[in-house]
Amino acid sequence: MNQTSLPFLPFVRAEIDEETIQGVVDVLRSGWITTGPQNQQFEAELSAYCGGRPVRSFNSGTATMEIGLRIAGVGAGDEVITTPMTWVSTSNVILETGATPVFVDIDPATRNMDLDLLEKAITPRTKALMPVYLSGLPVDMDRLYDIARAHKLRVIEDAAQAFGSTWRGKRIGSFGDIVSFSFHANKNVTTIEGGALVLNNEEEAVLAQKYRLQGITRTGFDGMDCDLLGGKYNLTDVAARVGLGQLKHVERFTEKRRQLARVYFEAFANGAAAKLGVGFPAQNFTDSNWHMFQIALPLDRLKMTRAEFMAQMKERGIGTGVHYPALHLFTLYRARGFHEGMFPHAERYGASTVTLPLFTLMSQDDVARVVRAVDEICEQFGQYGT
Ligand SMILES: *Cc1c(COP(=O)(O)O)cnc(C)c1O
Repeated sequence: MNQTSLPFLPFVRAEIDEETIQGVVDVLRSGWITTGPQNQQFEAELSAYCGGRPVRSFNSGTATMEIGLRIAGVGAGDEVITTPMTWVSTSNVILETGATPVFVDIDPATRNMDLDLLEKAITPRTKALMPVYLSGLPVDMDRLYDIARAHKLRVIEDAAQAFGSTWRGKRIGSFGDIVSFSFHANKNVTTIEGGALVLNNEEEAVLAQKYRLQGITRTGFDGMDCDLLGGKYNLTDVAARVGLGQLKHVERFTEKRRQLARVYFEAFANGAAAKLGVGFPAQNFTDSNWHMFQIALPLDRLKMTRAEFMAQMKERGIGTGVHYPALHLFTLYRARGFHEGMFPHAERYGASTVTLPLFTLMSQDDVARVVRAVDEICEQFGQYGT
């Protein structure tokens, strides 16, 4: 039961303006509802956002990553190095191509893959690197691309959470090798479901288009041919219209999230949670788009499980999430030989992390309310003392 009289605060909610809703209605009435003019405009605006690089839209971030790997030539016998601290689709798509995912542990300070370990994990079979920017915080991009160049490796960036993030003033997506974005409903910019692939050149863009729709080309005999095994990954114009409405606000969305993250840090300072040793994200207000704000519970000092903590938050009218359990401990990956103890930082973080509400429609009072609830629960269930 909700103990408060305040409305339930979910951990995420998309902000979609009235103009976008009207725009969707217009598309529905236009006579062209699947991939068409809205997608063309969406891709053009995304390309402009990414410094003019070629961009192709897809119906999910998962599809973009899989096709990105295929365009990079990843297949059976190859190894792709990534992190176990991500949404499971990152490594599932590596398996889809027939390649082998190789995990390296995270740096507990950033919760992103540790680039020292990444370098050590490179073998003659390594074909590509797949970094993930958890909660929108990029890895050290200079170092990443130095490693890739030195070892002649492709990079398929899982920037699913990093639309709006930057590296030293440059937008994620505006440089690098192949970059994959997701526009899932929970992401900073959404098409409800969807994604986009940023590519290096027109040849890759043509390949992306073929993989996106059954390998069809408009040349060849009878004006149509199919010369590779593609899938069905195109985005509808209804979804693209939602994306166009979202792109107008991307800078404001990022600013607002950074501001709310700052309020979180201020409100948590010296409170019961901080005293108990709750873990906080890296304080980065220049590069990260603050896609999420995750705390790590000090479970050895709390007389409760994470599920009980989340239930206590819910009783106080606050939604939370888990992003993510370390994925190498999922059944599919255990069956491939992964087990506890292999990536201790990811395992510890994955077992203790809780995602707090952070979205553009929140107020500073909402943040204060969340922090009050966390502090109260820590006060009540924490084992303080020396
Ligand atoms: C959301 C997400 C994906 C997958 O995107 P979908 O659009 O849901 O397929 C992949 N990786 C990460 C890190 C994500 O957050």
